[in-house]
Amino acid sequence: MDKPSRMELRRKTGFRDLPKPQEKVLGPEYAMSFACLKCKASNMRHFDKDPCDYPDTMECPICKGVALNFGRHFKPPKKSDSAQWKKIEYLVEHGFVFQTIYELREDSGYYKVSYPITLAEAKDFVIKYKHKAVKTALITSA
Ligand SMILES: [Zn+2]
Repeated sequence: MDKPSRMELRRKTGFRDLPKPQEKVLGPEYAMSFACLKCKASNMRHFDKDPCDYPDTMECPICKGVALNFGRHFKPPKKSDSAQWKKIEYLVEHGFVFQTIYELREDSGYYKVSYPITLAEAKDFVIKYKHKAVKTALITSA
């Protein structure tokens, strides 16, 4: 194909009616957990935007401090379970806000890393996955 016809083709492609992007209906399944470490409480919040555009933090409805977005799969421990909340605090301080972490498998592909169950495990975890930590300057000031 010579250059002019290629150009012509490209031009035509540009004029073609693009299919309308599908209207996304974000239901409650896209609610994210916002947890306040101070109140040891978490609330599910849903926003009318793409989940990736959800805010990292929101105002804690109880203490008006900072509640952190821990994503869709966070299961808050009981308020009385201070060991678990301590572990969460430790993880947050080290840049882990329950973001999904993938690691390369030895054979092939990726697997989803499970978050640590105990504070002791969390200590190894933050070292092992240091390269996956997110910036939490804003978070640790809470
Ligand atoms: Zn609070």
